Amino acid sequence: MEHQNIDRTSWRCKYERRKKCKARLLTYGRTLKIMRGEHSHESFLTDDLRIIYFTHGKKYPKLIIDRYEFMLERKYADKTAWTCKYKEKKKCKARLLTFGRTVKLMNSTHNHIADFNGDVESLISTFVNIEEKEKSYIQL
Ligand SMILES: [Zn+2]
Ligand SMILES: [Zn+2]
Repeated sequence: MEHQNIDRTSWRCKYERRKKCKARLLTYGRTLKIMRGEHSHESFLTDDLRIIYFTHGKKYPKLIIDRYEFMLERKYADKTAWTCKYKEKKKCKARLLTFGRTVKLMNSTHNHIADFNGDVESLISTFVNIEEKEKSYIQL
């Protein structure tokens, strides 16, 4: 698949400004290359980077993350909303938003197991930055 090869993205650490961190990564296809690995702090950018998959079909696109399948719910000018494929069948409330290279998990709790068992090799893979709606740290 030729478009996987041109799919290069460089990433900077999310603490670049706050902690003057200079760590950099490069991703393409399913490869992650560390350009500059030393962080000036304890967290690692790679914790939040994950591979997601898209189906090729334009009509009913699907997004697969950690073997959970999502269906396109609605496209906005700057973002796309996705809901779990079991929204109707099992009343699963998991949902997320995608914009650029970011996936924002609005609700990441499924009420069923991850059951996508198709071949991800045949899908379009891309690295994204995962954002949880709930923050990992709460200000005291
Ligand atoms: Zn860093
Ligand atoms: Zn679900």
